[in-house]
Amino acid sequence: MYDVIIIGGGPAGYSAALYSARANLKTLLFERLFSGGQMATTEFMENYPGFEEPINGFDLAIKMENQARRFGAEIMIDEVIDMELEGSVKTVKTLAAEYKSKAIILAMGGSPKELGLPEESLLKGRGISYCATCDGSFYKDKTVAVIGGGDTAVEDALYLSRLCKKVYLIHRRDSLRATKSLQVELFRNKKVEIVWDSVIKGILGDQAVEGMNIANVKTNEETRIDVEGIFVAIGANPNTGLVKGKVRISDEGYIVTDEEMKTDIPGVFACGDIRQKAFRQVITAAADGAIAAYSAEKHIGT
Ligand SMILES: Cc1cc2nc3c(=O)[nH]c(=O)nc-3n(C[C@H](O)[C@H](O)[C@H](O)COP(=O)(O)OP(=O)(O)OC[C@H]3O[C@@H](n4cnc5c(N)ncnc54)[C@H](O)[C@@H]3O)c2cc1C
Repeated sequence: MYDVIIIGGGPAGYSAALYSARANLKTLLFERLFSGGQMATTEFMENYPGFEEPINGFDLAIKMENQARRFGAEIMIDEVIDMELEGSVKTVKTLAAEYKSKAIILAMGGSPKELGLPEESLLKGRGISYCATCDGSFYKDKTVAVIGGGDTAVEDALYLSRLCKKVYLIHRRDSLRATKSLQVELFRNKKVEIVWDSVIKGILGDQAVEGMNIANVKTNEETRIDVEGIFVAIGANPNTGLVKGKVRISDEGYIVTDEEMKTDIPGVFACGDIRQKAFRQVITAAADGAIAAYSAEKHIGT
């Protein structure tokens, strides 16, 4: 029997594991893929305090993981497939086995949103990617497009401009949502061409991406652009599939918590990008994780 089981090895989960293990609670964390979650897909992070120079997201994840392990947190690569959350003893089922704990911390984060085009599933991994830092190197000296207008899209376009011949940034509005400093860098970049007021209508190619049709939302004019890679950066969906119907979820699809990261089920806490909140960043995920562990400690002590 564990005191605390944490689901998700992103910054929220690792921070929860650090605080929980350091409070002497028997702590187990599950991660289904690789350390760091969305953070690990960021090449350079400039806004996590304590690092004067930009830090690679995956490197920071490994530091967080090692720090949690140093205090005794157990970390397993395994996917949680079901949970029983009611009652004083919780059950977590993974692909490999079943585990019990007194408290659960949900830190499953988010996954990239898809475009919703019929060709998308066929060409995923054959020119369509949701992670520029993971797949960008396959497109060295090629022409690619990034879809989106937020921080992630602009960061992706800048990153790809260092590898690729040319980068189109396709954005459905006439201004970007991204942070001003990123916009300044983008507008200076000669390799990036911004296509304003445009949405992607279709992806061309049978075996691999060859191009795309885009439509101007103001004029309805359709244009073909030849690209070999399309990087989708239009936001993320919370990974709440496992807990739908088990904890309270907001209309926007996020887990509802209070300021102590408590869900509506006693002994079940949620932290990071999976919960309803205003600002989803590494620092807020880490802060949430610390609070969730503190609340779990108080719950177990009562
Ligand atoms: C491209 C990109 C760039 C970004 N750049 C920055 C930046 O510069 N600065 C910044 O502060 N923020 C940045 N962010 C945002 C930041 O990465 C997120 O806010 C943060 O990672 C959220 O942390 P999290 O732990 O809540 O969730 P996540 O990072 O999403 O981690 C959740 C983890 O849970 C795991 N998981 C999910 N379901 C299960 C399951 N059933 N079983 C086991 N494991 C499971 C996932 O595999 C994942 O590893 C960026 C995000 C992206 C996508």
